[in-house]
Amino acid sequence: MARIVLDRIAHSYGVNAAGVREFALKPLTMTWNKGGAYALLGPSGCGKTTLLNIISGLITPTEGRVRFDDRDVTEVPTEQRNIAQVFQFPVVYDTMTVAQNLAFPLRNRGMSAAGIERRVQDIAKRLELDTCLGRRAQGLTADVKQKVSLGRGLVRPDVAAILFDEPLTVIDPQLKWMLRSQLKHLHRQFDFTMIYVTHDQTEALTFADQVVVMHEGDVVQAGTPEQLFHRPVHTFVGHFIGSPGMNIVPAAVAGDRAIVNGLEIGLGRAYPTLPAAARIELGVRPEAVAFSADGRGHPVTLERLDDLGRYRIARVSLAGCTLNVLVPEEAEADLSGGEPRIVFDPDRVNVYADGHLVEGEAR
Ligand code: ATP
Repeated sequence: MARIVLDRIAHSYGVNAAGVREFALKPLTMTWNKGGAYALLGPSGCGKTTLLNIISGLITPTEGRVRFDDRDVTEVPTEQRNIAQVFQFPVVYDTMTVAQNLAFPLRNRGMSAAGIERRVQDIAKRLELDTCLGRRAQGLTADVKQKVSLGRGLVRPDVAAILFDEPLTVIDPQLKWMLRSQLKHLHRQFDFTMIYVTHDQTEALTFADQVVVMHEGDVVQAGTPEQLFHRPVHTFVGHFIGSPGMNIVPAAVAGDRAIVNGLEIGLGRAYPTLPAAARIELGVRPEAVAFSADGRGHPVTLERLDDLGRYRIARVSLAGCTLNVLVPEEAEADLSGGEPRIVFDPDRVNVYADGHLVEGEAR
């Protein structure tokens, strides 16, 4: 496995109608550590596949260098990068058996028959494919085919990294969960460098130790699922991650108080030096707002209540701003009548200036 270094890479597919060069991937410097499990997460068109293709060698970046450990691979073709790739659609030979499919990459590399047999048996066991080694790939379900596809990558002893491009797209929803947790387990066993592209936040957050969030060709944040959830560095990340995402509310902030349309909200930190001309917003997760059971807090109008089984999501209007509030199953708040009130957890209210998180000072 290799450490992958992206050194000031950027990529453009060409110029736009006005003759201006457009960058699908904006300048980026980043290191992917040996053995790390990473997810590349972002909406369609944000540049995930472009970045993945630069790592795999399908694209040579317009600018910058790519290194695997100390080797500069910027111009090295995919076949010579020792990359294993798993795509949306399983890449298997239908007429071959599972064992023949797994053996194929090793045969191509001239490994001895005994060596091939050992590797195939080992990988098949780890992927729980050992009971179907003799079956033709043709009749297998999509999830088993995808495991064979993955096995064809894992079976090679010299793999520098495994790249996954939306690998669970064609898998049945109930099997997705199983395959995802198997991948996580395999990562712990093998210690591969894994990069997993997805637009599905659940896949990214459950699979990866580090999630790299992209937006319009930029990496907006790389962090643990915990960091992305509690301290998103940009309102885009706050809004994109979470279901529903973070509430973003225009506000004025002075010291450790925020004013939202005349209502005062206490903050967990103080902000003495916010840029004067900046657009100031509060970012509050629906989980960080609660209905008050004792008459404290700010009056709101309940606009809608959606029951999602284990919890409810209330949509409320607070001084003209719409907010989502997560109501846990066990919450005692009575929302059937009267005038509901909400309270904020001050330590979980983030302040943003022009979309960027402001750190603030401990009080
Ligand atoms: P998706 O999830 O839809 O695949 P993505 O996040 O992987 O999206 P990319 O496929 O990397 O995004 O595309 C980034 C931008 O580059 C998009 O605006 C896309 O239209 C453009 N683009 C991608 N491939 C090409 C190409 N071969 N030629 C020109 N433009 C391209």
